[in-house]
Amino acid sequence: MKTTLPRPSAGVDAAAWERAHRDLVGMLRALIRIRSVNPPAPPDGDGELQAARAIAAHLAEAGLRPEIVEPYPGRGSVGARLRGDGTGGEPLLLLSHLDVVPAPEDGWTHDPFGGDVADGYVWGRGAVDMKGTAAMQLAVIRLLADEAREVGRDPAVDPVPGLTRDVLFAATADEEAGGHEGISWLVDHRPDWLQAAGALSECGGVSLDVAGRRLYPIQVAEKGFAVYRILVRGTSGHGSMPRPDNALVLAAEVVRRLAEPGPPRPTPVMERFLAVASNGLPPDVARLVRAIADPDARASDAALAALCTPMYARAARALLRDTISPDILHAGTKYNVIPAQAELTIDCRLLPDTDEPAMRAEVVRRLGDLAGACRVELTNAGPSVEAPVDTELYALLDSAIRDHDPDGIPVPGMPPFATDAKHMARLGVPTYGFSPLRLDPDERFLERFHGVDERVSLEALRWGLPVLYDVVRRFCS
Ligand SMILES: [Zn+2]
Repeated sequence: MKTTLPRPSAGVDAAAWERAHRDLVGMLRALIRIRSVNPPAPPDGDGELQAARAIAAHLAEAGLRPEIVEPYPGRGSVGARLRGDGTGGEPLLLLSHLDVVPAPEDGWTHDPFGGDVADGYVWGRGAVDMKGTAAMQLAVIRLLADEAREVGRDPAVDPVPGLTRDVLFAATADEEAGGHEGISWLVDHRPDWLQAAGALSECGGVSLDVAGRRLYPIQVAEKGFAVYRILVRGTSGHGSMPRPDNALVLAAEVVRRLAEPGPPRPTPVMERFLAVASNGLPPDVARLVRAIADPDARASDAALAALCTPMYARAARALLRDTISPDILHAGTKYNVIPAQAELTIDCRLLPDTDEPAMRAEVVRRLGDLAGACRVELTNAGPSVEAPVDTELYALLDSAIRDHDPDGIPVPGMPPFATDAKHMARLGVPTYGFSPLRLDPDERFLERFHGVDERVSLEALRWGLPVLYDVVRRFCS
């Protein structure tokens, strides 16, 4: 069994780790300073291309021949390949995205695009989502390229000593807006960048302290989504004589009905997660953990309130049901004219066993007697995905975590939001969320995603780098 061999990372000397850590932090800070905001906005409309170029320069310096594509102006993605000797099968892909969500400066302790290092953290937009992971993946690529050069090989064309599979690296544009101008384009036009036995990307392998134990959810599934525009028809009139069929009044009732959370419905991924999480806990705490999946929403919510911070409780609630969030409402033109139409946009997130027609049927059911006044139009949708856990790659993710944190408990999980994994599913490539970080118990990691004061701890990055290195070396050897 490969997993019982000594850790490959133990063969790398301390000076090389120090250099790799310095490289990682330097690259991360440089990437944060590039405002690769999505949607692109002047004066940095080509931030993703700038980030792709910065990474390409770094890879070229390591001796590789990176490639950049720009299928739409400014929307750059970068890819590179490290070679194995070809005897081990399909490659492993290290996948990241270059874009970040906007960061209004209000409330930040440090400039969101400054890349400051302070108090043991690298600060800035993208530190966790997901420039930190991209920088960690690049540091692993760099270590492997250096190992080729040390024995006189050219990492652009020669195999890295000991590697039997190729290692692919791809950092893409547009993930934060659905990936259409990034990974989706690559799937259609450059599948050679992505075709692999498996891919590692964001949202997993990050420690989560639950009831005094350190869990490491590894993302194996993600929810799907469906966005609907609902046109609510009413009757116009003079604002001096109110009407009950004012479209805005009807829309308010539509919003109320849709916003009501449905009952919890645990999926196999969540059931497995809760079983692992409750295993070995004191009986009363284990009972509470299992009660999270109670089909009675009140029992589930009470368990979450007892166990979790409000942020994690909200995430858990979202993972236990198909969710509907009414997010845009437009109606009316003048203060004294009763609007005849209102337009509502809702964001629905679907569990792995719910498809779009089922979601639509649920939306219509919730509208009830108002369904006749509403027209429901689908504007965007993406399916849920699930990667198998009985693969060699998943087993290696699990064992690498245990090797580096003997008290850590890896567990298959699912984030509440979507990633580029759904596009990889079109190529049949199982994609796991694995950006290993060991955090302090009080670190509120989930709040950093798209949040104020996004930051990642230097020590967590230092811990994660050899974990990722071991996974790559073992899977590709
Ligand atoms: Zn992300």
